[in-house]
Amino acid sequence: MYLCPVCGYDELDELPYVNNDVTTGSFEICSCCGFQFGVDDLDNGISLKKYRDKWVDEGAKWYSDSSPKPKDWNLEKQLLNIIT
Ligand SMILES: [Zn+2]
Repeated sequence: MYLCPVCGYDELDELPYVNNDVTTGSFEICSCCGFQFGVDDLDNGISLKKYRDKWVDEGAKWYSDSSPKPKDWNLEKQLLNIIT
C-alpha cells in the first residue's frame, strides 16, 4: 500500500507516480480525497497542496463509494502522514 501525497491516506494500490517520476501518474484515484494522479496534477495543473487545501476547506469529504471510509478514520491524524 502507498501513501497519497495529497491527503495522507496510506492505502493506495499503486505508487502515485511511476518510479517517483512526477511526469507519469498512476491514474489511480485516491479513495479518500479523490485526487487522480497524472490527471488532476499533470493534465489539469492543480498542485497537490492546492487540491488538499480546497478539499479540506470543503469539509474533507470521503470520495469513494466502493471503498468506504474506515470507521476509525481521523483526518487530523492522517494529515500528519504528509505534513511535517
Ligand atoms: Zn488522497
